[in-house]
Amino acid sequence: MKTADIFNEKTVFSLEVFPPKPDSDESVIYGTLEQLSDIHPDFISVTYGAGGGKNGCKTIKIASDIVTKYGVSSVAHLPCINHTKEQITQILDSITASGIDNVLALRGDIPEGCVLTGDFRHANELVTFIHENYDLNIIAACYPETHPESKNAVEDIKCLKHKVDCGVDHLITQLFLDNDDFYAFREKTQLAGIDVPIEAGIMPVTNKRQVERMVKLCGIKLPTKFVRILERYEDNPIALRDAGIAYAVSQITDLVAEGVDGIHLYTMNNSFTAHKIYDAVQSLI
Ligand code: FAD
Repeated sequence: MKTADIFNEKTVFSLEVFPPKPDSDESVIYGTLEQLSDIHPDFISVTYGAGGGKNGCKTIKIASDIVTKYGVSSVAHLPCINHTKEQITQILDSITASGIDNVLALRGDIPEGCVLTGDFRHANELVTFIHENYDLNIIAACYPETHPESKNAVEDIKCLKHKVDCGVDHLITQLFLDNDDFYAFREKTQLAGIDVPIEAGIMPVTNKRQVERMVKLCGIKLPTKFVRILERYEDNPIALRDAGIAYAVSQITDLVAEGVDGIHLYTMNNSFTAHKIYDAVQSLI
C-alpha cells in the first residue's frame, strides 16, 4: 500500500528498523519484526547505509519480507550520494519487483574527505528520477531544527519546497526533542506552500551513549528538562530507559493533540521500547 493514502484515514503510526550488521545473526531482525508487527503499524521503514553494498540488498529483502511475511506496508530507504544512475536503476527495479510500494529518497551523509563519484548531488534529483520513471510512492526527509549543512532555515525550507515539488508524497522529520521546534517548522512549511503530510520522527532516548551520538551526528538540541533527566538517571540504566519512554510518550501525546499527520518511531530495533510506547498511545492514534 502506498503510504500517502493512509493519511486520509487516520493519524499514521509507523516504525523504523535497520538491517543487521554484515556478520551478525540475521534471525534476530526477524524476531524483532515478528514482535513489531503485533503493533499493527501503518508501515515499517528499513534504513540503508549510504555506503551501499550488501546493506542495500538486505534493506530490500527485509522491506519485501515485511510485506509478504507480516502483511505490513514497507518503505525502503535509498540514499543516492554514492550511486550512479545505472546502479540506482538496478536498485529501484529490484524494489518494484519485490512488491515494495514506497521509497524514502535520500541524499545520504557525506563522509569527511570523501570524493563523490555518484550521479546525484541532492535528494531532489533522486526524487525527480523516481517520479519520472517509476510508479512508487516517494517519501523524503526534513529537519525541524534545520539540516546541519544549511546556511539558515530560510534556505533549508526553500530547498525542501523544491524537493517536494519534484514529486514527494510525504515527509518524515529528523528526530527532535522539543515539540516547539516541530510546530515552528510546520508553520514555516505551511507558509512556503508545502502541503504534503509531515510525520514527526520520535526517538525514545534510552541510554547516554545514544544521546551523545545523536547530538554529534544530527546536531539536535537537548532541552533543559531532557538534560535534567540525563543527569539524574545516567548511572541507572533501567530508570533512564523508563524516563526515555515516558519522555517520548509525552512528546507523542502533545503532537497528536496538536493535529500531527503521523508519528514515525525510530525503534533502534528495540521492540520492548516500541511496545511500551505504543501501549501508552494506542488509544490516541
Ligand atoms: P537533501 O534533501 O539533499 O539536503 C541536504 C542538504 O542540502 C540540506 O542542507 C539542504 O537544504 C541542501 N539542499 C537540498 N537540495 C539542494 C539543492 N538542490 N541545491 C543546493 N542545496 C540543496 N541516511 C542514510 O544514509 N540512510 C538512511 O537510511 C537514512 N534514513 C533517514 C531517514 C530520515 C527520516 C531522515 C530525516 C534522515 C535519514 N538519513 C539516512 C540521513 C540523511 O541521509 C542525511 O540527513 C543527509 O545529510 C541529508 O539527506 P537529505 O535526503 O535530507 O538531503
